[in-house]
Amino acid sequence: VARAAAAQRAWAAAAPADRARLLRRFAAVVDGHVEELALLEVSEAGHTIGNARWEAGNVRDLLEFAAGGVERLSGRQIPVAGGIDVTFLEPLGVIGVIAPWNFPMPIAAWGLAPALAAGNAVILKPAETTPLTALRLAELALEAGIPEHLFQVLPGHGDTAGDALVEHPGVAKIVFTGSTRVGKQIMAKCADRVKRVTLELGGKSPNIVFADADLEAAAAAAPMSFLDNSGQDCCARTRILVQRSAYDRFLELVAPAVQAVAVGDPLDDKTQMGPLISRVQLDRVRSFVTDDLTAVRGSAPEGPGFWYPPTLVTGAAPTDPVAREEVFGPVAVVLPFEDEEEAVRLANATEYGLSGSLWTRDIGRALRVSRAVAAGNLSVNSHSSVRYWTPFGGYKQSGLGRELGPDALTAFTETKNVFISTEA
Ligand code: NAD
Ligand code: MN
Repeated sequence: VARAAAAQRAWAAAAPADRARLLRRFAAVVDGHVEELALLEVSEAGHTIGNARWEAGNVRDLLEFAAGGVERLSGRQIPVAGGIDVTFLEPLGVIGVIAPWNFPMPIAAWGLAPALAAGNAVILKPAETTPLTALRLAELALEAGIPEHLFQVLPGHGDTAGDALVEHPGVAKIVFTGSTRVGKQIMAKCADRVKRVTLELGGKSPNIVFADADLEAAAAAAPMSFLDNSGQDCCARTRILVQRSAYDRFLELVAPAVQAVAVGDPLDDKTQMGPLISRVQLDRVRSFVTDDLTAVRGSAPEGPGFWYPPTLVTGAAPTDPVAREEVFGPVAVVLPFEDEEEAVRLANATEYGLSGSLWTRDIGRALRVSRAVAAGNLSVNSHSSVRYWTPFGGYKQSGLGRELGPDALTAFTETKNVFISTEA
């Protein structure tokens, strides 16, 4: 932390154009190593190669995007009597980024890129199970000419390495992505020092299908909206709410679509879904899908590996754990609703509020329901993935603060107001 703080002071004092240029160079070096980084993620986390390439490319894009913000991080000039009043967006100092194992590269970059661009140093604590791409990114940063100690990686366990960053008085802000349970503990500890904190936590996102929707399109899109990354995705649309008058037809359409998902070798370009990350995660997923539940199941390879088939649970009550808790595996529930009012009520009947989708041809309804669902990221007639240039974050217990988007850099600054008298 002391070394990061020293590097940060020099970094913040450098010309904005020089900082931007170094971040663009870092982006270019990442771009030259997309394949290597992707293969590392396949071997470490079992991501499909297509996803892993996208993830490494996302790091590059975030660095480019953030680099474009360095010279645009302007304060304001506010009218006052007797002088001028200006604001400065000053860097916070050393930022601790604590990342989860489900999307190691993108989530590291969501913190890393805008924090560096705003003039901060970053210490990244990757998840225990996925340190390799983080360590490689730190090497690539040095290769690109990013000053030594400005971006450091501290691998280790959460309650040791992660907690050390949370407790350290020299770390100005914690950016945490992970479980709601750990996020609450971190927020409580940060409160002690009024340390800044951004939290990206869990989700149990709805996918609301109205009877007036293009049912073929809704059914075709539903499987990968909860199966991408084997469902280890905080935005996974795992509660499929279907208007009762279209329920049977939707199931007829979605069941074969779930069964058609290609599950297998992550290195095969045609594979859509790979294994789960670990034995622990596999056991956790299994515990949710009890024998009394009716389900549509896809296929998964036999033999070694943490395989679980795509699973659509049709017989659950809204109060069952599988319908309420975050499974973080390839499992979704389908639940019927009568009308728009009930759809909104069911969608909001959760402590989470990260994402959601709704399918309808009625534009008024699309807007009403988008406004009524208490979640940070909604998509209409699609399951849009996270875009680095639009804001992302959760309502309720899905998080605190926003990342990405036009204000990404501002989250890593403190606003200082200065009044200068013209009468002295
Ligand atoms: P986790 O909360 O156990 O761990 C996340 C990170 O926090 C890891 O790096 C871990 O080492 C660290 N950590 C654990 N205990 C800590 C402590 N006491 N002090 C400091 N750091 C600590 O979560 P996980 O099992 O790694 O990831 C799965 C969870 O992450 C899911 O619940 C998922 O919804 C959530 N997630 C949320 C988002 C989002 O953007 N909202 C994105 C990805 C994952
Ligand atoms: Mn954990």
